[in-house]
Amino acid sequence: MSETYAEPLLLTPGPVRTASEVKDAMAHDFAPAGVAIKETTARIRRYLVDLVNGDGVYECVPLQGSGTYAIEAAFHTLIPDDGKVLLVVNGFYGLRLRETLKTMGKDFVVLELPMLPLPTAADVEAALDADPAITHMAMCHCDTGTGVLNPIAEIAEVAKKRGVRFIVDAVASFGGFEIDAKALDLEAVVTGANKCLESAPGIGFVIAKRTALEAAKGNSPSMSLDAHDQWAFMEETGLWRFTPPTHVILAMGAALKLHEREGGVAGRNERYRRVWRRLVSGMRQRGFKSLLPDAAASPIVASFHDPADSHYSYAAFSAALEKRGFLIFAGRLTAAGTFRMGCMGRITDDDIDRLLQAIEDTVEELGIQHRSRDEDRVLAD
Ligand SMILES: *Cc1c(COP(=O)(O)O)cnc(C)c1O
Repeated sequence: MSETYAEPLLLTPGPVRTASEVKDAMAHDFAPAGVAIKETTARIRRYLVDLVNGDGVYECVPLQGSGTYAIEAAFHTLIPDDGKVLLVVNGFYGLRLRETLKTMGKDFVVLELPMLPLPTAADVEAALDADPAITHMAMCHCDTGTGVLNPIAEIAEVAKKRGVRFIVDAVASFGGFEIDAKALDLEAVVTGANKCLESAPGIGFVIAKRTALEAAKGNSPSMSLDAHDQWAFMEETGLWRFTPPTHVILAMGAALKLHEREGGVAGRNERYRRVWRRLVSGMRQRGFKSLLPDAAASPIVASFHDPADSHYSYAAFSAALEKRGFLIFAGRLTAAGTFRMGCMGRITDDDIDRLLQAIEDTVEELGIQHRSRDEDRVLAD
């Protein structure tokens, strides 16, 4: 095939635009059992454990697949048949966790909350009080469907006090936000490669307490989505059980070097915040209204209300932007009537300025007049 496609600037909440170092790292063919893949795998595992302050207590188990695969592996492995889960849902990815648990036939109850106000310790305490059979809790950290950043520290405190094991879907937030698994006493943190870690898609990670993994042998009814067996095999041999995504592992090795060089979580968070602020301010100046107040928003995805104008449709708006080289995302189910732009990945101030210009041009092209103005709202830090 000799087709070439124009490469858009991805403003999607994953996969994200990767650095040239990450792309270049993939241009090599290594054997799964060779030293390059073994050492890179070992280095990735150590780095991710360090990112959650997990040394000596947590183990990182990489798995082939996207974030959802790792979440499924974590649930299969860490929630035994006689376990019962309290799932906190306040957005699209919470709903996906519900679907996952349901598909797996797990015993669970849902604490369904609105998108805002943010879930509180009291909400969770009441739900735990109502059902003493609950052994585990699950919730997502940044719900990329809406952009809400959930207060996992506050929720984790309740879980810890009650002896309930808390599994966090940190697929969107990991690497861009501080998560101290040890201090929060989390059972497991689940993530993927292609969001704040800015690598290529294709690996997910279950970062779990070693004691939890040790106790989980035989729990998973799945052959491939078994974090215990993958971990035990990796510990013994240094290898993945089944064909690993070798190129993606190399990409991840390069991506983590860049993460470290940028100053780790703090450095990355600062860059995202800067880019996000530029985007949100620019959009407000152009008359678009954010879905969330700044205090509840993660600086990795910005959601805006669809303009209330008959010239606007998401399909026409996004197509006109795509024609100009920018890929945006529709709001998910729980945030219908909004569109989203991700700020993860190698996006510069300059990219944001070009994007804002493209939005201006698009608004003019489509003849969109009425936008919901809130440009005089002050941006929080
Ligand atoms: C991206 C994401 C996932 C995983 O989705 P995949 O489609 O499997 O990559 C899970 N949870 C959250 C919060 C996410 O943002």
